[in-house]
Amino acid sequence: MTRNETFLAAAAALLGPRGLTCDPDLLAPWLTDWRGRYTGAAMGLASPADSVELAQLVTLAGEHNVTLVPQGGNSGMSGGATPDASGASLLVSLRRMNAIGPIDLENRRVTCGAGVVLQNLHEAAEAVGLRFPLTLGGKGSATVGGLISTNAGGTQVLRHGNMRAQVLGLEAVLADGSVYSALTPLKKDNRGFDLKQLFIGSEGTLGIITAATLKLEPALADRRVIWAGVESIQAARALLLHAEKAVGEALEGFEVIPHPSLEAVFEYAPDMRSPLEGAHAWYALIEVVADAADAPSLGERVEAMLAEAFEAGLLQDAAIANSESQAEAFWGLRETVPMAERSKGPAMQHDISVPVEKMPDFITDAIARVEAAYPGTHAVAFGHLGDGNVHFHVISPPGSERAIWEAGDGKAISRFVHDLVTQWGGSLSAEHGIGQMKVSELQRLGDPSSLGLMRAVKSALDPKGLLNPGKLLPSE
Ligand code: FAD
Repeated sequence: MTRNETFLAAAAALLGPRGLTCDPDLLAPWLTDWRGRYTGAAMGLASPADSVELAQLVTLAGEHNVTLVPQGGNSGMSGGATPDASGASLLVSLRRMNAIGPIDLENRRVTCGAGVVLQNLHEAAEAVGLRFPLTLGGKGSATVGGLISTNAGGTQVLRHGNMRAQVLGLEAVLADGSVYSALTPLKKDNRGFDLKQLFIGSEGTLGIITAATLKLEPALADRRVIWAGVESIQAARALLLHAEKAVGEALEGFEVIPHPSLEAVFEYAPDMRSPLEGAHAWYALIEVVADAADAPSLGERVEAMLAEAFEAGLLQDAAIANSESQAEAFWGLRETVPMAERSKGPAMQHDISVPVEKMPDFITDAIARVEAAYPGTHAVAFGHLGDGNVHFHVISPPGSERAIWEAGDGKAISRFVHDLVTQWGGSLSAEHGIGQMKVSELQRLGDPSSLGLMRAVKSALDPKGLLNPGKLLPSE
């Protein structure tokens, strides 16, 4: 028997038939990332039932020097859950650890398994009159473990913060097979380092998260979802400032979509309809919410906010969703943008942030510079304007062959965009993480002291480099 065969035989004895497969057909769907940019190979797919089994598996892997790639819903955008092509790693799915609760109604919190799918968490919270205030287009696949490991954002960060802000405690299996267990319900705890923070955003490189205690919010009593047409991204920013002033904390989301992205949505999903009659250069999708006390006046406040915006010339047209299904349809347009853009052919995607007040000028400047430097390309920016974070896609000239373009001009364009972002004081990863996609760019542009600290933490927690090698940091 080879070393790997010995390891797999021991892993099979530990996990049983439900817990390990080496069947290429069962493995295949999990070896390519959601965007279809990376395809890897793995010696098998392990699906441990709980943290005890996982801890034993990690210990075994350490004994055999087998590297492990943690995976949740495989909806990540940076290839972080895709193993390399060597086939030397074991893919570790957390999807079986999908228990939710019980939900603590009084204290509004829940402990759930790392494999819980976001949409299921939403539904479980809603069923008891609460809600989990983080959502994103991949909610049907993304898991709690993946959301924590990437410190995911989404469309409600403006009011509630990203995943980090929702985590009270967590449990993770470490590279030496021990279990860090801190499923604490404490809101305050100053006994030294806040160690859970190490795992949030570490993309499976420091430990494998098995469970988390999450905060919940009271269910909303009412909401208004508005689709507004504006003449420029500068006007969209002015509208955001106006909305923040007019409705304050009730502003839950503020997204922007340029007209070409909306057209891409209609090509991709011909049944979808624009909420407005005419075309506008940009659209703002705005959500304003109310609890029970504020619900009676919500409609009035939103209408007043929009009327003032019209008067000030901040928007050209607007529609307020008149039902929950229409509100969902408005959000559906926004959530379809990534799929629609992906279907248009080879594109380089950048998930970037700059200080929110600089975002309109950054978008205008970056689009002009990229299109001038790379004739035939088409750049679009859409997403979370309220957070100073947009997805900046550069679509290849018509007829480009994907592999050739991505390896040539596409690669150069990404460096060009990241250089611009750095000059504007921004980040080359606002919410999707580094994965394998941006490892070399982070090394090129990252702050040397931060990179040194990250390497020190990695080698302290995972000296043999067993966990998710080549992601976030280069393999040693
Ligand atoms: P995976 O893709 O399986 O893994 C992602 C990373 O986390 C990998 O590095 C993996 O190794 C690691 N990992 C997974 N589970 C664990 C675990 N239990 N322990 C340790 N490491 C683990 N993201 C946003 O932030 N904002 C958005 O608005 C957004 N919109 C999206 C829209 C669409 C249509 C799609 C498909 C995705 C979107 N995403 C967005 C990206 C994605 O949903 C998030 O990154 C999500 O957090 C990934 O969760 P996952 O369970 O699929 O993780």
